Amino acid sequence: NALNFSAGPGALPGTVLQAAQEAIVAVPEVGLSILGISHRSDWFASVVDETERNIRRLLDLPETHAVLLLQGGATLQFSMVPMLLLRDSGKAAEYVRGGYWSRRSIPPARLEGEVRVLWDGEALGYRRLPAAEELHCSPEAAYFHYVSNETVEGIQFHEIPGREEVPRICDMSSDFLSRPFDAGRFDLIYAHAQKNLGPAGVTLVVIRRDLLERVPAKIPSLLDYRAHLEARSIYNTPPVFAIYVVLLVTRWLLDEIGGLNRMAEINRRKADALYGIIDGHSDIYLGWANSEHRSLMNVTFNLPTPELEQTFAAEAAKAGFSGLKGHRSLGGIRASIYNAMTLDAVESLCGFMTDFASRSDT
Ligand code: PLP
Repeated sequence: NALNFSAGPGALPGTVLQAAQEAIVAVPEVGLSILGISHRSDWFASVVDETERNIRRLLDLPETHAVLLLQGGATLQFSMVPMLLLRDSGKAAEYVRGGYWSRRSIPPARLEGEVRVLWDGEALGYRRLPAAEELHCSPEAAYFHYVSNETVEGIQFHEIPGREEVPRICDMSSDFLSRPFDAGRFDLIYAHAQKNLGPAGVTLVVIRRDLLERVPAKIPSLLDYRAHLEARSIYNTPPVFAIYVVLLVTRWLLDEIGGLNRMAEINRRKADALYGIIDGHSDIYLGWANSEHRSLMNVTFNLPTPELEQTFAAEAAKAGFSGLKGHRSLGGIRASIYNAMTLDAVESLCGFMTDFASRSDT
């Protein structure tokens, strides 16, 4: 099989794929294919409960926060967040415009109220993110929104920005559960599943319960966090299979990996290995991100010419490394090394890159 370095949907752990394959034929405890099990069954309620419990354990999440399993991807959150928390608030929301995905999060917010862009990375080519002193956050904002890992550019916040008295909202789609962090400092976190958590179709939301007191009265219920909270994430028919795979991934993180500290160590070693190759061959691999904001999930770089990039991607694909072409908006090369990508696989890519560099020198 090819090694999957795609930015999303990304790789899943082998043991998870095996269990998912079995469940498609029959879930052992139920004797039915997962594709035909009712979302109203006791078994599925227990899947949702355990998924929530596991996420709580992984994050050490305080009881002040709820975990929701929604649909519509991270893109729907770009709209749900301002519909519920900006509309009728009489305040402005503050956004960091740090890359492709945070750029996409802003226009839907402008439909709901005033938006202040606190920092815009465009002039710097989206190669770095703001330092704390560059963000002049107001204590009066409706909320502060940022994207923790810009998947396209491969830049990542390594500190938590924002002020404690303003609701902090974060799109963690491409680095959720890749490292430990203080989840209690966030008022709302959202992350779609198809990077670190499972297949596309389910989006995780972690929300501080008392934030919901500010929600305007008239919101269509499918777009209202309160309806999902009340229905314990089974408001309408949820993606049963996708949620089951998220459960399997949380079990893998807890039982096979041993938690987020250990996961972060492995992720750090993978990223160090790749950035080491880029730095060691800086005549041929031109890293995209400034070193202080390099992403541990998406390693982005260029080669000296577009032709050489094409040759690199084609030879890599032939050698069994899939999904290395950069995002269509940026070009270049991107190696996505989400949780399920093993250190061994990253080391084989490093070997390929070293070999390619030596061949290109001559
Ligand atoms: N936010 C981030 C950080 C992403 O990487 C992506 C997609 O890759 C999105 C949002 C959009 O997600 P979706 O396609 O689930 O709506």
